Amino acid sequence: MLAVHNLEVVYEDVMLALRGASLSVPPDQIIAVLGANGAGKTSLLRAMTGLLDIHRGKIVRGHVSLDGQELDTTQAAGVVSSGVSQVMEGRRVFVEFSVEENLRVGAHTRGSSGLKEKYERIYEMFPVLADRRSARAGYLSGGEQQMLAIGRAMMAEPRYLLLDEPSLGLAPKIVEQIRDLIVTIKDAGTGVLLIEQNAAMALSIADHGYVIENGVTVMDAPAATLRSDSDIQEFYLGGTEERSLRDVKHYRRRKRWLS
Ligand code: ATP
Repeated sequence: MLAVHNLEVVYEDVMLALRGASLSVPPDQIIAVLGANGAGKTSLLRAMTGLLDIHRGKIVRGHVSLDGQELDTTQAAGVVSSGVSQVMEGRRVFVEFSVEENLRVGAHTRGSSGLKEKYERIYEMFPVLADRRSARAGYLSGGEQQMLAIGRAMMAEPRYLLLDEPSLGLAPKIVEQIRDLIVTIKDAGTGVLLIEQNAAMALSIADHGYVIENGVTVMDAPAATLRSDSDIQEFYLGGTEERSLRDVKHYRRRKRWLS
């Protein structure tokens, strides 16, 4: 189990981004984290993967644990070696490298043994990457680049995969493919933490979900409960019509103004 215990995160010693966030990711589940812009979702992910440092942030209270042992989150490479990989927002692939070279980078913590088998496993999971294995990553479509970013993280054979808004900016059809892929990854035995603005997509596949507001975990419930919760429907799912979380603040302001 990967778990976050009452985390507090501060940037530049002043900006409190997380004020007590807790969650657990079991090894065989998809866990969704929802929250409006600026709620602290990305900070949570950075704190779990040793990336706060480069953003001038630090954990000031709480900790992250893996199977009950405290995880050293000061070293990003060490976190990956422990079995926790991530795909940051914005599918940062190396555009000058080929698809296969990008995948190779993802395997660096595991050395070069069995590399061929690892490529094949990824190509089986992502047939679109197999077809483009020698193409420069910069020539791939947005959806293909997202798949490559996920495939690269999977090359480290993680026990847990953390995804920051994998559906951002992608067409609905591609979002569906990404969603199916996340389910495949979970079914193959990797626990998934899914940070999403697209609450409808995330809750359609998640086992459990958390809502973060202003750096605090305010909801913690099975995904089915969240799907039928009236606040979630109003603020995050927008009734029957899917609503982007980016609209939430505006929506709340408008609601206050109207009442
Ligand atoms: P988004 O959906 O917009 O990515 P988020 O929920 O991921 O939002 P964070 O990016 O974690 O939220 O930001 C939480 C708070 O921390 C925000 O107020 C943000 O402005 C602040 N913050 C994030 N990164 C930094 C940084 N490097 N330095 C200072 N403040 C930061």
